[in-house]
Amino acid sequence: MLKIFILGFIAISVLVLWNYAGRSPKNILLTKNNMPDSTKNKESGMNDKIFKTEDEWKKELSPEQYKILREKGTERAFTGKYWNNFELGTYVCAGCGTELFNSDTKFESSCGWPSYFEPIDSSRIIYREDKSFGMTRTEVICAKCGGHLGHVFEDGPPPTGLRYCINSGSMKFIPKEK
Ligand SMILES: [Zn+2]
Repeated sequence: MLKIFILGFIAISVLVLWNYAGRSPKNILLTKNNMPDSTKNKESGMNDKIFKTEDEWKKELSPEQYKILREKGTERAFTGKYWNNFELGTYVCAGCGTELFNSDTKFESSCGWPSYFEPIDSSRIIYREDKSFGMTRTEVICAKCGGHLGHVFEDGPPPTGLRYCINSGSMKFIPKEK
């Protein structure tokens, strides 16, 4: 009888611990963004994806845009066009024109790259684990054209606590009409 009681107690403890682990901030990206959206993109967004050869991309994009979007390059901090742009408008993908970020989610960050706390629609973004340069980061990719945009970190402001750190060179800014 005592044995059953102890086993039951252990089982309940394990369940409680699991529950807590699932809610820890470290899992925000995995549970909230990564898995569900990437699967959704694969299932529903397949038809409107853009596929081009690297030669075609090279012809269409500027060398800087090509380096970032197609070769996962990163512009140097404080050198891009938009890190200190706070005009009202929309930031679209330089590769395919998809509207990615709105100026009202952009915030002043000391990192030197345009920073947003959320995308216009999370289904327009693909999240991928990036282990390059000895770091584990979450890469942010345009769901439509597969272009590399930047990374997302968990040190952003409310309401999401996320910081989408995006290369200016992967986007074009469309000012709001006055
Ligand atoms: Zn795109």
